[in-house]
Amino acid sequence: MAKVSENYGTMVFNDYTMQERLPSATYKTLAKTIKEGKPLDEEVANVVAHAMKEWAIERGATHYTHWFQPLSGITSEKHDSFLDPTADGRAIMTFSGKELIQGEPDASSFPSGGLRATFEARGYTAWDPTSYAFIKDEVLCIPTAFCSYTGEALDKKTPLLRSMSAIEVQAKRVLAHFGDGDKHVVTTVGSEQEYFLISEKDYAQRQDLVLTGRTLFGAPPCKGQELEEHYFGAIRPSVNEFMKELDNELWALGVPAKTKHNEVAPAQHELAPIYTNTNRAIDENLLTMEKMRLLASHYGLVCLQHEKPFEGINGSGKHNNWSISAGKVNLLDPGDTPMDNLRFLVFLTGVIQAVDEYQELLRMSVASAGNDHRLGANEAPPAIISIFLGDELGEIVDALIDGHEYCNAEKVAMDLGVAVLPNFLKDNTDRNRTSPFAFTGNKFEFRMPGSAVNLSDANMILNTAMAKSLKEFADEMEGKEGAEFEAAAIAYVKRTLTDHQRIIFNGNGYSDEWPIEAEKRGLANHRTTADALPCYIDQKSIDLFEEFGVLNEAEVHSRYEVKLEKYNKLLNIEIRVMKRMARRTYLPAINEYIGELASTLNSIKAAAPGADTTQQEETLGKLLDGVAKAFSALKALDTFHKEVEALEDEQEKANRYAHEGTPLMEALRTEIDLLEKLTDRDHWPVPTYNDILFYV
Ligand code: ADP
Ligand code: MG
Repeated sequence: MAKVSENYGTMVFNDYTMQERLPSATYKTLAKTIKEGKPLDEEVANVVAHAMKEWAIERGATHYTHWFQPLSGITSEKHDSFLDPTADGRAIMTFSGKELIQGEPDASSFPSGGLRATFEARGYTAWDPTSYAFIKDEVLCIPTAFCSYTGEALDKKTPLLRSMSAIEVQAKRVLAHFGDGDKHVVTTVGSEQEYFLISEKDYAQRQDLVLTGRTLFGAPPCKGQELEEHYFGAIRPSVNEFMKELDNELWALGVPAKTKHNEVAPAQHELAPIYTNTNRAIDENLLTMEKMRLLASHYGLVCLQHEKPFEGINGSGKHNNWSISAGKVNLLDPGDTPMDNLRFLVFLTGVIQAVDEYQELLRMSVASAGNDHRLGANEAPPAIISIFLGDELGEIVDALIDGHEYCNAEKVAMDLGVAVLPNFLKDNTDRNRTSPFAFTGNKFEFRMPGSAVNLSDANMILNTAMAKSLKEFADEMEGKEGAEFEAAAIAYVKRTLTDHQRIIFNGNGYSDEWPIEAEKRGLANHRTTADALPCYIDQKSIDLFEEFGVLNEAEVHSRYEVKLEKYNKLLNIEIRVMKRMARRTYLPAINEYIGELASTLNSIKAAAPGADTTQQEETLGKLLDGVAKAFSALKALDTFHKEVEALEDEQEKANRYAHEGTPLMEALRTEIDLLEKLTDRDHWPVPTYNDILFYV
């Protein structure tokens, strides 16, 4: 096998390859276009396209595709071959600049939330040159944005890119006060991806897993995760082989996969890459997820990316590590000079203000049917947004708010009244795993996103809210310089921290007291997707997105509708699958066992009158009782389901699914799960949690 360094990035048309393959004038123009975010001129595009095609064909590519992220969040692609037949019956391979820059997928079947009537179904895709083209399975993939002909964004990437420009504009205004206003500002993301691997054989026998990605039934296994032996434990050989192939494929694609390990739950694992610019990080995360699903099949495994495939053991998340940098400087890195320090405090304050002000939107960005089972369970942060700063930084912020001097032997108080924060904060290992939004030394870790989510929404919101904080600061500092600026900046920081203090919480987010305390503080607690979504279309949200040109009102509405519909559709499917499995899989199997037990009992009575048949009779009684209860739970669910599906209003539907449907589903599940524990193993029609989670 080739050395890692030789393999790395070989399937990516990256900066190195561009320099190598493009005439230097073309390279320079392209690099400038990328930096300034300007449209690419067609002549330049033709040269780039030709070089890209030659490079791709050398690596076995036969097709190209515009790779984009419609509102469903999953990547989409339509493959076109480079093939161009000639008049004399041969064929040449062609790829024009126009084909590189713009594509026209038939967009009518992608969710648009009413943005685009079907008669004008055409949307177009446009190359995002800041994310490199790559080759995947003999297809040259060109990362693109997806818009309607009237210019509305029909995808996840476009608003994200817009939010990255918005934050850059405002950050530069702030940085100008620190003499750094000309640096390129980007937000960076490192996404830790959790997933389960189970055997294909078990998976195929579970209709719920196949159709919904999670088990809708299943009694807890005899052993769960209580022994904590899986976390960082030795990796199963088959899984190890899978991870190796995954790493190699990702490295070839230029995805810097860095860390892999077993997670807390049995059969659960994690992969973390090295962070990069947000749009690329998200493309890379989507590629990673796709490769995981695909490569698992090489080892007889299935990769589950649902947020909660198994009840009673941890679900899977996708931590979004976020920061903002100017040039090579991480702006959330506490500095060691007073000015660096002030800059750090301004950006930190900006984040605190943004997260408090738009906490509901952030919560909304990670809302999904799957994640509802995870947030608030004792494994993931609650559905309440709060910020963890850690002891040290927490004390500094407290000192700023109260106006007392912060004294710490290791830090020097300076005349600005701000302590110099030496770099050791970076190594702060005081990690609070229960916080949804934790400062981890030089970045924030947003832990609410579920494993299946496309991180674009969360980052688009974070960036836009942060742009607003920075704008407010820059507006107030307009025209101020030197000592006047410093004094005004400190005053701003103190005032803003005081105003948003309620969002800071350094305690245990899993405790029963926290939701009560949070309510007193006026923090939002949207437990379900149905509760979380409406804030998207609040005037406050629309104003934010419009102010920074990230989404217009129609685009906001379309996104809300798509999310709402998706939630309702998923709940509808889950209930259908539940009813069908109960009727056609579980009840017949249990009844068959009941029949056998009844005839056994009769035979015993006939053969040995007066024998002690307590066990047979009690089991039979419990089974019959359980079946009766399961049947009545099934009927209740069925009645509810028919009623809700007849509703017209999608929000009302979602509310009913969330608040009435979920408990009814839970009730049916409880009865079937109890029956699972009573029914003979050979009669149980599907693999159990014991089988699925503890495979060899
Ligand atoms: P953990 O203990 O949570 O695993 P790590 O330090 O290993 O913490 O980092 C987790 C993730 O955070 C990695 O993907 C890493 O690349 C990313 N990360 C580190 N620094 C930054 C940054 N400045 N911006 C965004 N992500 C970052
Ligand atoms: Mg982490």
